[in-house]
Amino acid sequence: MRSVEDEEVCRVCGYTDGDLFFENTWPTHIICNCCGWESGTPALDLSATREYRGYWTGQGAEWFSRGARPKDWDLLEQLRNIPKDWR
Ligand SMILES: [Zn+2]
Repeated sequence: MRSVEDEEVCRVCGYTDGDLFFENTWPTHIICNCCGWESGTPALDLSATREYRGYWTGQGAEWFSRGARPKDWDLLEQLRNIPKDWR
């Protein structure tokens, strides 16, 4: 059974604004404002999720929607939101 947290929080970067990345485990194909991952495209398993995250942070963790980036944004704090199955 998946929790709401798992569906609301980007499993790549931990970003959430309340939109669902998954609904009843099905990807909604929204694009994360922060890391730019489109839920379900590509479909990522755990190791691919970690790879994507490593790539994104390695590129400087640029925001996909620059305007959505909070002034006091803290990457490490946000990464702590990642659902535990996806860390
Ligand atoms: Zn993200």
